[in-house]
Amino acid sequence: CGIVGYIGKRNSQEILLEGLKKLEYRGYDSAGVAVYTADGLQIKKAKGRIANLESKLDETPLNGSVGIGHTRWATHGKPSDVNSHPHTDNSLKFSVVHNGIIENYITLKEELIAKGHVFVSETDTEVISHLIASVYEGDILKAVQQAVKHMTGAFALGVLTEFEPDRLVAVRQASPLIIGIGEGENFIGSDIPAILEYTRNVFILNDGEMALLTRDSVELMTLEGNFISREMFHVDWDI
Ligand code: GLU
Repeated sequence: CGIVGYIGKRNSQEILLEGLKKLEYRGYDSAGVAVYTADGLQIKKAKGRIANLESKLDETPLNGSVGIGHTRWATHGKPSDVNSHPHTDNSLKFSVVHNGIIENYITLKEELIAKGHVFVSETDTEVISHLIASVYEGDILKAVQQAVKHMTGAFALGVLTEFEPDRLVAVRQASPLIIGIGEGENFIGSDIPAILEYTRNVFILNDGEMALLTRDSVELMTLEGNFISREMFHVDWDI
């Protein structure tokens, strides 16, 4: 339902939580974050209010300057801690947040189970993290491009891998996603309010487009990998 992502120099946990709170108006049943920390990618998630997630993070904060967050509105699998996003794969090296529905997830799930993948949630989203892990050969951008070829339905995605902690990949297909441009930091959001506190310069992705973010750069391209140049959009309104 709501996506926010950050790659920069500041502590990401606060930025993700603030962004998720700005998206609360959309409604949600659970929330979670994944942050790249000194111990690798760490995920915290909780059913219910963002405050539930916040109190978990108060107990054991996630320190790191790259992260993704999500508020979920369950479509496949009941609201629960384990069904909350971000989702990961069996290596725990990949993290995915997803808005929308993967229509062919049952077929994909069966194929991945046959290859030895073990699923822990009831969601359609979990297939995405396993699928990306299964096609990964050292380049997360290429892996996501490969994975989306197999997916049908609606998906806005934020993807991180522990193997490439300086890259954040974003995808838009029939579910909105925008990129926020900062200085030495960049953002993704399912809606402008998620990031408006931090930047007013945004790229609006169209369906069938994706982005590769580092701290200092944003590249826009089609899902097939053809680069796109686009005017930055300046947001001149307030929430
Ligand atoms: N279909 C996914 C799920 O049920 C994502 C739902 C959403 O957009 O929040 O977990």
